Amino acid sequence: MTITLKSEKEIEIMRKGGRRHAEILGVLAGMVKPGLSTLILEEEALRLIKEGGDRAAFLGYQPAGAKRPYPAALCISINDEIVHGIPNEAERILRDGDIVSIDLGLIHNGLITDSAITILCGAVDDEGRKLIEITRLALEKGIEAAKPGNTIGDIGAAISKVVSATPFSLAKDLAGHGVGHKVHEEPLVPNAGRAGKGEKLVAGMVLAIEPMVNVGSGEIKISPDGYTIKTKDGSRSAHFEHTVAITEKGNIILTS
Ligand code: MG
Ligand code: MG
Repeated sequence: MTITLKSEKEIEIMRKGGRRHAEILGVLAGMVKPGLSTLILEEEALRLIKEGGDRAAFLGYQPAGAKRPYPAALCISINDEIVHGIPNEAERILRDGDIVSIDLGLIHNGLITDSAITILCGAVDDEGRKLIEITRLALEKGIEAAKPGNTIGDIGAAISKVVSATPFSLAKDLAGHGVGHKVHEEPLVPNAGRAGKGEKLVAGMVLAIEPMVNVGSGEIKISPDGYTIKTKDGSRSAHFEHTVAITEKGNIILTS
């Protein structure tokens, strides 16, 4: 396993990109409303990224095993879609009560940050609100565990502790990852980790931590478009992600 540690200077660049990243997600979150086409969100994201002098990391990115490059800047995953929903395929219009995950990868001065949020569209029922709240809390606890002296397994243990206290499930086979020079770098950061197991966390590691939580079972399936990952049982799923740098003293959330 080769983990690329980032220098303080690189982390500073990622912090600048990450601030911009958070601003863009904030603007997009504010646009979410019933009747809006996901294409409009995609176009606005492209405009804002360009305006900041940056580039979209997912657009044209071809992950290992994919048959074609990813065709958009955003992944927009609605309700039973867990991750990698494509905004500019078919007519995807947001409806009242939807829960909408928006995932963005941003390249600032050659370095990539990765962050996602899940937004309520209109009036969302109690279960959907609870799902989002738990997923956000799972990310928060995962980030708290991401500090030097701990291990990769401690992050997942903290995340799964939050989720296992609820009726919800972590989406199986989907994990966080190292990030920076590439969208996906080592190490893998599983959401269901075991305390004390896995790679030791050291200053200079930059990790995308990203719990994905389903209302029903954790089983997943891939759609015919080759990218969109859905819950197998059709239940809803939420997703929050931050890019986090491990430092000597603890960590810095780069995408806040
Ligand atoms: Mg992401
Ligand atoms: Mg990611």
